[in-house]
Order: sequence, then structure tokens, then C-alpha cells
Amino acid sequence: MTIFKMRYIDLDKLRVPSGWFDRAQTAKLAVAAGADPNDYSSVWRELKDGMYDLSSFKCWYCESNIDRSDNAVDHFRPKNSVSDAAKAHNGYRWLAFDKSNFRLSCTFCNSRRVDVVYGTSGGKADRFPLIDENTRVYVQGSILLEHPLLLDPCEIEDCELIGCKQENGEPCAASTDPLQEKRAQVSIEVYHLDRDATNILRHTAAAGLISDILEAKIRFDVAQIDGTKKPDFMSVAKRIKRRIVSDAPYSGEMKYLLRGQRSAEHPWINQLLEA
Ligand SMILES: [Zn+2]
Repeated sequence: MTIFKMRYIDLDKLRVPSGWFDRAQTAKLAVAAGADPNDYSSVWRELKDGMYDLSSFKCWYCESNIDRSDNAVDHFRPKNSVSDAAKAHNGYRWLAFDKSNFRLSCTFCNSRRVDVVYGTSGGKADRFPLIDENTRVYVQGSILLEHPLLLDPCEIEDCELIGCKQENGEPCAASTDPLQEKRAQVSIEVYHLDRDATNILRHTAAAGLISDILEAKIRFDVAQIDGTKKPDFMSVAKRIKRRIVSDAPYSGEMKYLLRGQRSAEHPWINQLLEA
């Protein structure tokens, strides 16, 4: 069984500080004239607080909590180089200060990992594979025809393409369409979604929620017969509510899991989800 994993982030809701677009434009012109995008990193760092607000301090790729001190703004289209490009690529420099290109990312999702034993490497860093490499854009221009292989938390359809196994928290493809399955698999590798520590935390949260739901169902049935037992039910219902509020760990998946438990006999589940 799979449960919903990636949480959709609506970038249009990102609030920017006063004068930010002017500062972004100045930086963009300087980079077009040859400057290094990193010399203007303060421009994207200014948006960090607003980005934290959109996800309650969680990584947009894996939903793990992010430390405030992390260098957490990832450029979805890399700004300095692109290791997947068929020809030498200097990065999507013209998008370095475009807020539609920013994603909040934890260190595990955006930093390079190298496995010295097997000689493999992962981690987003400068990775940006495409569905069709022939559509790759190298110089300032439209990216509309360039379709990423990586799943994007800011695309609502992409968020439904990845899930995790209830029995162990391991991430997996949620679609059986071969292309979408491939996109999920590549994303799991590039974003480090198969990191054991995260799987364990995700699984622990899922197991705790399921156990609370079972307990609440029993207590609800008892309270239906004996009204004085209602407080016992309410205390478990509150515990469940705390597991699905937006700042709770893996709340996107927890909500999905709770949604799967709805039934006519237990209308309180719907009430918790809608409250
Ligand atoms: Zn992450």
C-alpha cells in the first residue's frame, strides 16, 4: 500500500520583502554582464523566511524539518553548471534570481553524496535531468518546452506520482505509467528520498497514527453507548489532530493515511480532516 508523499507548495503564495524585485533585477543584470550568481546570494536568502512559512520549516522535497541555519534555498534549475547536460552548461544563470526557480531544501536533498564502495553518486547539487535531452536550453530563453525528469513539489500533478510503503516508510513510485515511474525513481535517487533515517522517522509517524486511529475508533464506539466516556475519545482525537496539523512531521502523508480510514461509522475522521 502506498500513501501520498510529496506536499504541494503553491509558490504564488510566497511573500517577498519590499523592493525585492528591484534587487533581483539588479543582480540578474550583473550576472548577465559576467558576475558570479553566488556573489548575489543575499537576494535569494532574503526569501528564506517566506519559504519556511509556506512549508512550516519543512524541506519541500522530503518533508524533513530544516534547521534555520541551513543554506536552504535550492535552485530547481541549477545556477552554475548542469551535470546532466549533453554539452558543457554554465547553468540557468538567467533564472538565478527568479523566484519561480527557488525550492526550500534540506542538506540531505540538495548536497552531493558519493558512495565510495560502489562508485555511485547522488544528491541534487547540479543535477537536472530532462525527459528529452534534445530540448535542453543553454542560453537565456524560454524553458516551456524543457520538461524536467525530476518531480517538482511546486507542480500539483507531480506530487501525486510518489508515495511510500506503509510497512516500512520506503519511498516508491505511485504511478504504473512507465515514464512517471521512471521520474519517481530518478527523483528518489537525486533527492536522497531513500535515506534510511528518513524512512524510519516516516514509518514511526505512520505507525503511531494508525495505532491512535484504532484506539479512537474503539473509544468512539464506547462513548456512543456510554456518554460519560466521551472525554476518553476526545483526548485521542486531539492527539490525532496534532499529528496532521501542518507543522507536524510528515503531515502530508499522515493526512493521506487518515483519509484512507474514513467510514460512515466514524464521521469524526472527516471532521478532524476538515477542521
Ligand atoms: Zn529534504
